[in-house]
Amino acid sequence: MKRRKFLKNASLTGVGLAVGSTLAACADTKTDTTENNNSEIVTASNSTGTLPLVIATWHVKEATAKAMEVLQKGGNALDAVEQGCMVEEANEKGQSVGKGGLPDRDGNVTLDACIMDKHGNCGSVVYLQNITHAVSVARKVMEDTPHVMLAGEGAKKFAISQGFEAEDLLTEASKEAWEKWKVEAKYKPIINIENHDTIGMLAIDKNGDISGACTTSGLAYKMGGRVGDSPIIGSGLFVDNEIGACVATGLGEEVVKTVGSFLVVELMRQGKSPQEACEEAISRIVNKPNSNYKDFQVGYIAVNKNGQTGSYSIHQWFSMTKFQDGVNEQIQSDFFNKENV
Ligand code: ASP
Repeated sequence: MKRRKFLKNASLTGVGLAVGSTLAACADTKTDTTENNNSEIVTASNSTGTLPLVIATWHVKEATAKAMEVLQKGGNALDAVEQGCMVEEANEKGQSVGKGGLPDRDGNVTLDACIMDKHGNCGSVVYLQNITHAVSVARKVMEDTPHVMLAGEGAKKFAISQGFEAEDLLTEASKEAWEKWKVEAKYKPIINIENHDTIGMLAIDKNGDISGACTTSGLAYKMGGRVGDSPIIGSGLFVDNEIGACVATGLGEEVVKTVGSFLVVELMRQGKSPQEACEEAISRIVNKPNSNYKDFQVGYIAVNKNGQTGSYSIHQWFSMTKFQDGVNEQIQSDFFNKENV
């Protein structure tokens, strides 16, 4: 089931949380056992636990399972986040990442992605076309070029020179959705709380080293040439191996304006828990004078060096997938706007 639909259909009932033996503290637990989603929704905060661990934005259990498989085989956090993100990039049914991503207003699928390792090295691609695994191209930029970011045609040429295959990323389903959108096409991209589905993933390996990655086709029906927060180091993603890491999803423009992920990591450096840091970063957005936050969604997930995690969003229905202590679970995020809830 599509992440968005799943989250919409889910209703929160009951209480309960599967925890590993080393978890120190859990709070706000709610479990959803809704028949038709075959999954659990759990709200939790401030839990700590054993390494390795993986967290990701939204409901992406297959992706976190892949990342955990890499970590359990002794792989490092960088390999884990890359391979985890690749699962969603290859998933044609996910219309927000890689193949099958919804196009811009002109029908072009353009991808943004970045990756960051334990040394603070990073690589990123923006406005990449025709290459499914944008996150892997970003890693190549980091490892095989003296640069941090490649854009557009140059990024594509580089990818092809590295052996990536060019292919058409616009699937029939995404083309159909775009044709439908064109009937009433508005100048602005559709901005609501549901059309943001960047996959952001953070992992800590058994050595305690942290890496992160982020990949997206950006806002559906965006203006041609538009680039969001996801490939911008410090906005869509930031990793500091001494402190922790954060990744963002939602309306990229708002994340860029507050340098969101860097902000969350710096707040953790000042002593805030990942949960508190995510909440503070959201409050910077919603408390701006004349903020129109009711019209858009932003969500953050974060992890600190101790394996504590947090997530927070402006509106309801944001979630994080977390794999730790043998439990791969969807954790419903707490959120700011409780009006009409
Ligand atoms: N943050 C992404 C962007 O603005 C969108 C998303 O999270 O889906 O491009």
